[in-house]
Amino acid sequence: MRTGAEYLAAITDEREIYVDGERVRNVAEHAAFRPIAATIAELFDVAADPASKMTHTDPDTGIETNRVFTAPRSREDLAAFRHAAETWARHTHGWVGRSPDHVGAFFDAFAAHPEAFASGDRDFAANVTAYHQRMQRENLYLSYAIIPPQVSRATTAHAWEGELIQVGVAEEREDGIVVRGAQMLATGAAVADEIFVSCIKPLTDNDRDFAISFAVPVGAKGLKLYCRRPFAPAATSAYDYPLTSRYDETDALLVFDDVFIPWERVFVDRDVAGLRKQFFDTGAHVLGNWQAQIRFAVKLQFIAGIARKVAQTNGVDKFPGVVEKLGELASLASLVESAVLAAEYTAEPDAAGVWRPGSRAVYGAMGLQAELYPRALAILRDLVGGGVLQVPSSVADMRNPETRADIDRYIHSPSAPAADRIKLFKLAWDAVGSEFAGRHHQYEMFYAGAPFVVKGYAFRNYGFDGPVGEVETFLAGYDESA
Ligand SMILES: Cc1cc2nc3c(=O)[nH]c(=O)nc-3n(C[C@H](O)[C@H](O)[C@H](O)COP(=O)(O)OP(=O)(O)OC[C@H]3O[C@@H](n4cnc5c(N)ncnc54)[C@H](O)[C@@H]3O)c2cc1C
Repeated sequence: MRTGAEYLAAITDEREIYVDGERVRNVAEHAAFRPIAATIAELFDVAADPASKMTHTDPDTGIETNRVFTAPRSREDLAAFRHAAETWARHTHGWVGRSPDHVGAFFDAFAAHPEAFASGDRDFAANVTAYHQRMQRENLYLSYAIIPPQVSRATTAHAWEGELIQVGVAEEREDGIVVRGAQMLATGAAVADEIFVSCIKPLTDNDRDFAISFAVPVGAKGLKLYCRRPFAPAATSAYDYPLTSRYDETDALLVFDDVFIPWERVFVDRDVAGLRKQFFDTGAHVLGNWQAQIRFAVKLQFIAGIARKVAQTNGVDKFPGVVEKLGELASLASLVESAVLAAEYTAEPDAAGVWRPGSRAVYGAMGLQAELYPRALAILRDLVGGGVLQVPSSVADMRNPETRADIDRYIHSPSAPAADRIKLFKLAWDAVGSEFAGRHHQYEMFYAGAPFVVKGYAFRNYGFDGPVGEVETFLAGYDESA
């Protein structure tokens, strides 16, 4: 099993990342990326610790690896996968969306369904299984970018002004393809080993050049990462910004300036139908998004915990109105937890023997996420009141003897001296109000696609035939004479 130190050494390469008009020289040391790199390193150390019980040997490949890098082949495997994903999620309290198990889960399902990649003359099926075995052996951390850049959503890439704005094939060579263009929005890419690049948005037959999928090292020549403003450097301390200072994953627009991709790293080549097969026929989408819901459930529990503790600290937790708000938050959190378990309970083996989490439960929970997360935040925001702003500007005020006495006297609660109270309310602010919090709000609403896309998954996977049939049977049971 890979250690955190091995991971940190591996990401110290020639990757081309731009922030604030400058090229980042050493990603593991840069103020914007060091904190999240350290957190990911911790995840690898957690997994490598036998106490976490995240290690197993894949019976198909014989490789000893992290449980999250193997497709579940029984109900027990599903439970073990959930345990492993939850162990990682608990380490970050759900605030790291793209830990290595997310894209890992997609590749687990890809490799279990090589037939979905078998098209044309080239053996992409062999590519995907070989790549997955490498992922198992090396515990690879992949980020992904599977959405075209937001140029126009009225048309697809072939109709955009300028050639190859969305990443596509610029040239085919004997030994691979050269890709050019951009793709959004690779969370964690700056500190990943490699990036999976593909397109999940539906394409037309005119978009064949963009219908590709491949894995590329972050340090590949010609690949540039344009990161949104990082929040970690502005975090004055872990005390002031406990979440920003640890979990700012960063998000990047990828630009491919004629990047060579050898054939063995290509999984879909100019095949519009192949992209849909890759994501949906393999079960990758439902397995990867089950992982996302396992993580989301952990995060909601944490938010519920902050809310309850804030209410206790302010002495309002027994007021009926507050109990009602906490009760609503508890309901939201437990709905997601229940969907995670329901997906496991309703899982079934597919033709390849992979146990797929029940899609009705996974997509049902996802379909509500764009309302559920903002609602959870609204309740926490409501309960904290002005307490999140009635805090000293930074930990420096706590250390200044001129101000400390006032802070101790006026910013405390019966159950919490000033230092504890301020610590809690600064955590609450980092969850609801900081720039990091705002990004998380956007993340939970959009990470799996815009709400209309995600509700489309819920619509298609609910199985309306049963309910409609029931209504029709009921209607058939009476007529005008009744
Ligand atoms: C913080 C963050 C991190 C992310 N991380 C990743 C990542 O790691 N990898 C990755 O691949 N993706 C990631 N995503 C998701 C992805 O990049 C997109 O944000 C997502 O797919 C939605 O697409 P969009 O942002 O272009 O929004 P759009 O799809 O353009 O939607 C914007 C608005 O337009 C409306 N709209 C657009 N088209 C239609 C239509 N046809 N019908 C009705 N309404 C429409 C939507 O309802 C929405 O209100 C991330 C997103 C965020 C916000």
